[in-house]
Amino acid sequence: MTETQTQTPVTSTGKTGTVCQNTGPYKCGTHTSVVVFFKKGDTFSNCPSGSGTGHSTTWAVVSQQ
Ligand SMILES: [Zn+2]
Repeated sequence: MTETQTQTPVTSTGKTGTVCQNTGPYKCGTHTSVVVFFKKGDTFSNCPSGSGTGHSTTWAVVSQQ
């Protein structure tokens, strides 16, 4: 009996300007009430919160439980 340890580390965070590796809802690291849905291959955008075009941030995936 072999244990399956094939889980690859999941990149659950992403900074603005980097490419999303996992489809799902992400919340702003600064504004946890701001949730934006990114798909795999998308480029993380600015957080829309705040004035102007928003701000760059580190997005953290929202775990669905
Ligand atoms: Zn924000």
